[in-house]
Amino acid sequence: MEKHSLLSLFSSNPDKYYKVSLFDEKGFKRQSCKLCGKFFWAIKDRESCPEHDSYSFIGDPPTSKRLDFVNTWKELSSFFRKNDHEIIQRYPVVCRWREDLYYTIASIVDFQRVMNGKIVFEIPRNPLVVPQMCLRFNDIENVGITGRHYTSFCMVGQTCNADAPGGYWKDRCIELDHSLLTDVLGIKSEEITFVEDVWMGAGAFGYSLEYYVRGLELGNAVFTEFEGDENNYRILDNKIIDMGAGLERLSWITLGSPTSYDATFGPIFKKLIDIIGIDIDSKSEFLSRYFKKLSEIYSNYENDPRLLKINIAKELGLSYEDLEKIVLPVETLSIIADHTRTLLFAISDGSLPSNVGGGYNLRIILRRTLALLARLGWKLDLQDIMDLHIEYLKPMYPELKEHKNDVRKIMQIESERYSSSKERMYSIASSMRESKKKPSVEDLIRMYESDGITPDLLLETGVIEKIPPDFYVKLAELHTTHESIPVPVIEIGSDIKPTKLLYYEDESIREFDAKILKILKGKYLILDNTAFYPRGGGQEPDFGTIEGIKVTDVLKQNNLVLHKIQAPSKDLQDNKIVHGIVDNVRRLAITKNHSATHILNSAARNNLGSWIWQNSAFKDENYARLDITHHSALTKQEIKQIENTANEVVQRNLPININVFERSNAEEKYTFRIYQGGAVPSNHVRIVNIDGWDVEACGGTHVNKTGEIGLIKILKTERIQDGVVRLEFVSGNKALQYVQSQDSQLLHIAQSLGSSREKLIESFDKVTLENDQMKRKFRVLINRFSDNMATTVTHQATKSKSGLKVYGTFDDVMGDDYYIALGEKSINIDPFLVYVALVQDHERIKVIVFVGDESRKIIKASRIAKEISMKLGGTGGGGTDKFAQGGGKDKSKINECLKNLENLITNIDSSEKNG
Ligand SMILES: [Zn+2]
Ligand SMILES: [Zn+2]
Repeated sequence: MEKHSLLSLFSSNPDKYYKVSLFDEKGFKRQSCKLCGKFFWAIKDRESCPEHDSYSFIGDPPTSKRLDFVNTWKELSSFFRKNDHEIIQRYPVVCRWREDLYYTIASIVDFQRVMNGKIVFEIPRNPLVVPQMCLRFNDIENVGITGRHYTSFCMVGQTCNADAPGGYWKDRCIELDHSLLTDVLGIKSEEITFVEDVWMGAGAFGYSLEYYVRGLELGNAVFTEFEGDENNYRILDNKIIDMGAGLERLSWITLGSPTSYDATFGPIFKKLIDIIGIDIDSKSEFLSRYFKKLSEIYSNYENDPRLLKINIAKELGLSYEDLEKIVLPVETLSIIADHTRTLLFAISDGSLPSNVGGGYNLRIILRRTLALLARLGWKLDLQDIMDLHIEYLKPMYPELKEHKNDVRKIMQIESERYSSSKERMYSIASSMRESKKKPSVEDLIRMYESDGITPDLLLETGVIEKIPPDFYVKLAELHTTHESIPVPVIEIGSDIKPTKLLYYEDESIREFDAKILKILKGKYLILDNTAFYPRGGGQEPDFGTIEGIKVTDVLKQNNLVLHKIQAPSKDLQDNKIVHGIVDNVRRLAITKNHSATHILNSAARNNLGSWIWQNSAFKDENYARLDITHHSALTKQEIKQIENTANEVVQRNLPININVFERSNAEEKYTFRIYQGGAVPSNHVRIVNIDGWDVEACGGTHVNKTGEIGLIKILKTERIQDGVVRLEFVSGNKALQYVQSQDSQLLHIAQSLGSSREKLIESFDKVTLENDQMKRKFRVLINRFSDNMATTVTHQATKSKSGLKVYGTFDDVMGDDYYIALGEKSINIDPFLVYVALVQDHERIKVIVFVGDESRKIIKASRIAKEISMKLGGTGGGGTDKFAQGGGKDKSKINECLKNLENLITNIDSSEKNG
C-alpha cells in the first residue's frame, strides 16, 4: 500500500475524513499548499503549508504562559484529567512486550501487541493520556545540532478506543487538542494550522491531522479507522485514536527559547554551566537568531551540518570559526544532557550498554558523551548529571530514583571499561593518522564494531576532520530490530482439531488414552489429546511410549502437538485409540530444573541488581542453563550468594501458583517483569507465581512447592557474550548425584595421596611442595651430571668424511631437559661436533639437534632436525642454525636414523653446497 495513493483516497473526500466540527465553528478553511500541494486547514489565508515556515516563535512565543518541560506536563495532564481522561504511568522504554522492538519508539506502542503478525490494541483505560518516554537512535548525529532532535523524548499519548465505553472520535479529539493550545496555553486559533496526512501499519490504516504553530509541529492526531488495503478494506470494530505530541516542543513554544533543549533541560543547563564556567546567557540573543535561521535552511543541508553552519555564518556576518566558538559549547551541552537522560531511562528500565542488540546504541551514546567531555576538557561527572535529571523529573517520573544506585553502578563500570581501552584506541588512532589514509564510513563502522573507537575520538585525535553525517544512521540501522529466527515447519495440510493439552489441565497425568487423528511422514503422530509436553520456551520435550513404541521427540506447531516415534509401525493407524505413557523420571527432572530457573533468575536479580533479566534458558533432564543480562563475569562470591539465596527459597517451601490471566490484567498486576521469557502472543497469559519470590509468564511445567526441588547446584558460570552471563546448573536428584560424584572423585584423590578426606587439602599442599622441591633437585642433578657426560659425548663422536664429528643417541628414561643441557655443553667443548638426541616423549620421539661453531659453517641444526623428523614420520622441525627440535611418531625408524646419521648429514651437507 502506497502512502500517496492512500492520501489521495482520503483527500478526495475531505468532508468525510478530515473535516471536524471545530473547523466549521471556528472558520478553518481548507487550502492547498502552493509549494508542495498538501492540503491544510487554517483560519487565515496562507500561500503554503506550515512545513515551509521558519520557527518564528523563537524569541517571540505565541502563548500566554511560560512553561518548562515539567510544568508543561502539569498543565497538560490537569487539562486532560478535567476532561475525563485517565492519566496513566509511562510504560518502560525497554519494549519487553514486542519481540520486534528493543525500545518503545512511540506512545501507541504501549498499547500494541503482536498476534499472528497482526497488531492488536490493548488500551487499559478509556480515554487515557500517557507521558511516554520514547527512545530513537536514528537521529543521533542531529542531536544538539538542530535544536530539536533527541535520542529520548516524551511523547504525550492521547489514546482512545472510539467504540468502547468512554470513547470519542475525531470531532472531540480535535476539539480537545485545540482547546489545549488555546484555552490552556493561550495560543490564538489563527496561529494554528492542521495538515492532512495518512497513517498505516500492520494491516490497519487511517487518516491524520498534524497541527502546527509558527512552523513547529506540535502534535499529530491519527484516526485508525480501517483494516485491509486501499482496494479492499473495512471499518474496524474498534477504531483507535492515537494523538501524539512531543512534550519538549509544547514547552519550547511557550518559552520561545533558542532551542528546545533550553525548555527541556533548563535547570540542568544552569547547574552545568556554573560548573564548567562558560557564558551562554549573554549569547542568548545571537543564539535565537542562529537557530531561527537554522530552521529556515536546515532542510537544504540536512546531511551536512558543516556546510549548514558555513551558510548561516555568512548570513549572520561572521566567520565559521567564530560561529563555532559560540555554538559548539551549546551543542555539546545539549548532547550531553540528552544522552545522559536516555541512558538514565534505559538503564533504569533494565537495558545494559553492550556490543549486541539494543544495548549497542546505549554504549555508542555513552562513549560519545565521554569522548565529547574529553574533547572540550570539561570536568563533569556523568552520575552527577543523572542525579540532576532524577531530581528535575521527580514530579513526572518518581520511579527514576528507585534504581538510582543500579544506574550509577552500570555507568561506573562502563566508564571504566572505556577509559581502560582508551590507551589501545589512541594507539590505533595514532597509527591511522600516520598512515594518512582517510577512513570511509564502512571503515569507521568496522573500527567502532571491533575496537569500540568512536568517530568522536578520531576527531579528537585528528584522524578525521569531520564525522560523516551518515555514520550514526548506518550504525543504528545495523542494530535497530531483532532478527527473527525461522522455525522449520512440517506440512500438515487439512484442518485438524487442536490437540487438547492434558499437561495444562493436570500436570501430574503420566498415562492417557487418545485417538490418532493423523500420522505425518509415518512417524509424527497427532492425537486428539496428549499429556506429552512438547519442546517450547526452552523446556525440552517429554519422552515415553505410545502403544509401547518409543516417543523420541515432541513438538508443537500452531495448536497441534506432534509426537515423533522411533520407527513407523503398522499398529498405528488413523482413528485408532492408543495408550500413551510419559517418562516420569525425565519429566520430574525437567520440571524441577524449570522451576529452579525461575528461582535462580530472581536470586541473581536480588544479589546483583535490577538489570538482571533472563536472556534465554534451556531445561533438559540432566542439564539446565540460564543466561542472564549482566555486565561482568560473576565472582566466586557472587556465585555462592546466588546459590545460597536460591536454596533458601527451596527450603522455604513456597507454593507455586499457576493461573491464567487476561494479558492486560497480568501486565497491570505484575508489570512487564513477567516477560522474562519474551513477549506472549496471545490474549491470555499463564502466570507462574512463586509466592512472594518470582512472577513470570511461562508455559512450562512446574513443581507445586519449591521444597520439591530439594537442591539447586550451580556447576559453572561463564560470560558468553558482552552483557550476558551463563549459569549452568542441576537440581533435585541430579544435583545430589553431582555432589556425590564430586565426593567420590575427592575420595579417590585422597586415597591416591595416602591421605583422608579430612586432611586432603593439607596432604595436597604437602605433595605440591615436595614436587616443587624434587624438580629443583632434579635440575641441579641434570646440570652436574651433564657436565661430566659432555666429555664422554665428544669422545664417543665419530668423525665423518667431511670432517664433522657426529654423535647420536636414543633414550626413553631421561627427559628432554637433560639432553638439551647435555647437547649445549658438548658443542661448547668441541666446536666440530654435531649432536643428535632422540628422546621418548609419551607417544612421540623428540629430536634434539645441536651444531658446534665450526660445523655450523657447513651445516645447520634446523636442516638436520627437519630431515630426521620426516624420517620419523613427522612433518618437520624448527629452530636456529645452532639448536633445533622436531619429532615424529614412527618408533621403528629410530635405529635406522641413528645408524645412518653420518650419511644423512653428509647428504644434507652436499645438498646445501649444491643448492
Ligand atoms: Zn507545503
Ligand atoms: Zn519458565
